[in-house]
Amino acid sequence: MKEASKMANAPQIIGYHRPTEIHVKLAAITHNIGEELKRTNPGTEMFAVIKANGYGHGLIEMAHACLSAGATGLCVAILDEALALREADITVPVLVLGITPVQWAGLAAENNISLTVGDLGWLQAAQAVLGDRQLSVHLALDTGMGRIGFQHPEELAPAVSFLTEHGEQYDFAGIFTHFATADEADTAYFKRQVGRWQAMMAVLDERPRYVHVSNTATSLWHEACNGNMIRFGVGIYGLNPSGGSLTAPYELEPALSLTTELAFVKQLAAGDSVSYGATYTAAQDEWVGTLPIGYADGYPRRMQGFHVLVAGQECEIIGRVCMDQMMVRLPHELPVGTLVTMVGTDGDHTISLQDVADYAGTIHYEIATNLGMRLQRVYE
Ligand SMILES: *Cc1c(COP(=O)(O)O)cnc(C)c1O
Repeated sequence: MKEASKMANAPQIIGYHRPTEIHVKLAAITHNIGEELKRTNPGTEMFAVIKANGYGHGLIEMAHACLSAGATGLCVAILDEALALREADITVPVLVLGITPVQWAGLAAENNISLTVGDLGWLQAAQAVLGDRQLSVHLALDTGMGRIGFQHPEELAPAVSFLTEHGEQYDFAGIFTHFATADEADTAYFKRQVGRWQAMMAVLDERPRYVHVSNTATSLWHEACNGNMIRFGVGIYGLNPSGGSLTAPYELEPALSLTTELAFVKQLAAGDSVSYGATYTAAQDEWVGTLPIGYADGYPRRMQGFHVLVAGQECEIIGRVCMDQMMVRLPHELPVGTLVTMVGTDGDHTISLQDVADYAGTIHYEIATNLGMRLQRVYE
């Protein structure tokens, strides 16, 4: 693959002419970050984690919202997300949390993007790529997540020495780890990770500028561990990382809602069936509405039997969710254009991302990040 200053990403088709919209309440983002910053020590910075299109909320918009609310840096998963932030003239520190192929080390350096490094071999291989460019790196320590990073002090020590010896090519900007069970009531495994973290940190004579261990769950429930920076992710968006099994120390306000409108309304006769596989058959004459959203938008296919709010009333999803459309049973005839809330509040009823995730047998992270690029995002 040739090195390019920027590889153009394919254009994304957004449904501006379809009444299906994600609404993001920016005041909720401000609230959640503000509440979190009230709890953290004055010297502790927040890097907002906005990978995966800002957990479905929009990458660039979330970057601006988080920085306005008090975050001082940003974390993403892959280099392309970081480059998109630079393209948008966002100049704050940006850290790529995943492993970037060595060949793009120079591209990261040129764009002042910090990369995560998990082994000495990467640093050695990147030397030739960097030439006279300097790269900012954060070392990842694998204390029990089993994903990326140095596992033992004996492995870490030579990498730290290497960075010190090659200060013209590397800025050793940070060191971090990631906890696997910070969102659980049982803290035994968490404590084991803290022990390994401390054993590895003892290798350092001098600490780099950023020492960070906390995702949202760690900062909410183990804040004593926070270093001088936290990687605050899902809490930004008002979602409880534990899914509700642990209570957050302040009210997390969900920022996202998902709405559409009835696109087509008809009456079924008793015995008529709906959607692929004809898995739903009307028991009596009933009104059915068709919604212009489907699993290609990230609304899971397995939601048959769950509900949406049509003009504030719970209506069952009938038949299989299709790629781009789905059907619901209406209490009576309703006009095309009637508001349908898939996630959010209408009147007395609320459907949370957690509710959707529970029904789909997954976690809200997966539902949020799967919400497709095709959905129009509206910021209010
Ligand atoms: C995604 C991620 C985070 C953010 O996690 P949340 O649970 O959303 O707060 C923090 N650190 C790393 C390394 C991550 O991959």
